[in-house]
Amino acid sequence: MSNLSCKHCGGELKAENQECPSCGIPLAPDHAESRQKRFIIFFIALVIFCGAMVLLVPHFD
Ligand SMILES: [Zn+2]
Repeated sequence: MSNLSCKHCGGELKAENQECPSCGIPLAPDHAESRQKRFIIFFIALVIFCGAMVLLVPHFD
């Protein structure tokens, strides 16, 4: 489930909206997709960070 909001007014958006239902500002056709991509990039960065921490933290055994 995606929780999109208008950058202009903060109103709730759906991925299929062509414009904001609250303020009527036109939305980029890929406004939902770009948000999803950002989340995926964030997730990959988090996984890399966790992997780096596991490698960098010394093991006492
Ligand atoms: Zn709006």
